[in-house]
Amino acid sequence: MDILGQDKAQRLLAHARQHARLAHAYLFTGPEGCGKSTLARRFATELLCQEASADPTVPACGHCASCRQMLSGSHPDCMVIEPDGQGIRIDAIRQMKEALGFPPLEGSVRVVLVRKAHTMRQEAANSLLKILEEPPPGNVLLLTADASAGILATIRSRCQQIPLQALPLPLAAEAIRQQQPDLKESDCLELARLCGGCPGQALSMKQDSVLPLYHDLASALGASVTSLAAQVQTALALAARLAADRDTGLLLLSPLCTLLKDALAERLCGVTQNSDPLLAAARERWNAEQLSAKLQAIEQAQEALHSNCNPALVFEVLLLELLGCYPHSCA
Ligand SMILES: [Zn+2]
Repeated sequence: MDILGQDKAQRLLAHARQHARLAHAYLFTGPEGCGKSTLARRFATELLCQEASADPTVPACGHCASCRQMLSGSHPDCMVIEPDGQGIRIDAIRQMKEALGFPPLEGSVRVVLVRKAHTMRQEAANSLLKILEEPPPGNVLLLTADASAGILATIRSRCQQIPLQALPLPLAAEAIRQQQPDLKESDCLELARLCGGCPGQALSMKQDSVLPLYHDLASALGASVTSLAAQVQTALALAARLAADRDTGLLLLSPLCTLLKDALAERLCGVTQNSDPLLAAARERWNAEQLSAKLQAIEQAQEALHSNCNPALVFEVLLLELLGCYPHSCA
């Protein structure tokens, strides 16, 4: 498994393995889609691999019985806890606690991956905390969380922290290309940019529809207005496309927000690093007050979507505002 970037995190893990200084729990943090689970899974594979556990200076071999079981997701000493619906349930943590009381089945260590640990409710988090306070020997817990702020400080302090960052865009584009070799290089780079260097986000989208949707959105924002009726029609059609896949729609709001922030900064300070052609159109078309109102509308939409409001309504309200269809908003 080839992991691009995240050098510091990789060094910390290699050091722990090579110096036999394994913590009983690790917390991988970083933005969504930056590679936390991929890195945690590779570390788990190394800890369980027959060759790598005998010689910690070598990576996982990829062909021993243990590596093959990890590849097929059937290793008896690798347990995975994931959110079920809204979050990780207390039952899952209870089951884990019970399993941890028994020695590993095949080797000397059992690995538990707790994915998206920030989705644990209070009850589940407290139960996990009890396990971390008295960790049963022979177990290594690998927690991943989108933001360490969403994790109880008491849990955080009992884990070795492994911080990850968004990747530089060329590396993120390369990571996308490795998973989707049929995509054009330029599309990989644009997807990397839209996802702010977090390839996992791009890979979770429908790549064949996301770029055309973003381009249509961008050109509608940059286009000059012919009539209000046509503008409303465009806004509603785009809103419907965004609402059809809520998660992709939500992800696309982030690059849009960045772009409008850059346009606002350029309006106010006259400098920008961003060469997006839409930026020039946005700056020409809207003054600082209008840009700021549009930014606020995007942030409100993001908040509403995170609170599970009806995506069709949220995107309609947003697009009508962005395209200047309300009496107060000036296109
Ligand atoms: Zn192996």
